[in-house]
Amino acid sequence: MKEKEKFFTKVRAIFEENSLSHYLTDEILEKFYSLTEIMLETNEKMNITAITDIDAVIARHYADSLLMLSAFIESGSKICDVGCGGGFPSFPLAIVRPDITIIGIDSTAKKIAYVNETAKKIGLENLTAISGRAEDLSAVGGEYREKFDVVCARAVAALPVLSELCLPFVKLNGRFIALKSKTADEELNASRSGIIKLGGKIESIEKLKLIDKTLGDEKDAERTLITIRKTAKTSPKYPRPYAQIKKKPLS
Ligand code: SAH
Repeated sequence: MKEKEKFFTKVRAIFEENSLSHYLTDEILEKFYSLTEIMLETNEKMNITAITDIDAVIARHYADSLLMLSAFIESGSKICDVGCGGGFPSFPLAIVRPDITIIGIDSTAKKIAYVNETAKKIGLENLTAISGRAEDLSAVGGEYREKFDVVCARAVAALPVLSELCLPFVKLNGRFIALKSKTADEELNASRSGIIKLGGKIESIEKLKLIDKTLGDEKDAERTLITIRKTAKTSPKYPRPYAQIKKKPLS
């Protein structure tokens, strides 16, 4: 079997296990194949991912990113992926949902350049990335404050810090969706009143499981999808400078 066919077989199997098969078309499989080729090649010169085994890439990057879609996202939505790094969940979301627009932001300019170049190479017109710090880009009066229907983030910070980085980007009535693993409950408890201060309200907490046969420890596959609704505008006091956010996370 050819290399590409083998890859498609793996994606189909892992997506099937994770109830994601309905997203797969030939065009989408081709895009995941191109992304994987470019990512693993670039990874030799630049640190994008510690995961290089193909099955693990498909499960822990692609399927994992798509678990976010367990929260319904309307067609035409504008999404911001805070701390997108090498493009997760940005790439998988943009690939399977051409009907939504995604802006990835990250403080590392090199990663942003890679995301933009790769999006172009694989023909993703709905993904662009900008470099900068979240707390600067969401400043009052700026282009990005309270402008997104949905803001998401994966593996960036614990929820008390993450909420202050993400909620200022969310429009009134929009949502901040955080995909968390093992420490979700503790993080949630530590951020309950901080979320209220930022104008958010916890709307749902959904327990999910990533089926990943490359993992030994069952616990690693636990996921919690936390949806926070923006019910009030964020006070201009937030976000504070990063040193303060980190030193004294809102609680
Ligand atoms: N979301 C990606 C990357 C996670 S690594 C994934 O799941 O694979 C965390 C990323 O967040 C890093 O690339 C880092 O540069 C970025 N980051 C951390 N704090 C940030 C901030 N305040 N503003 C912008 N990016 C930030």
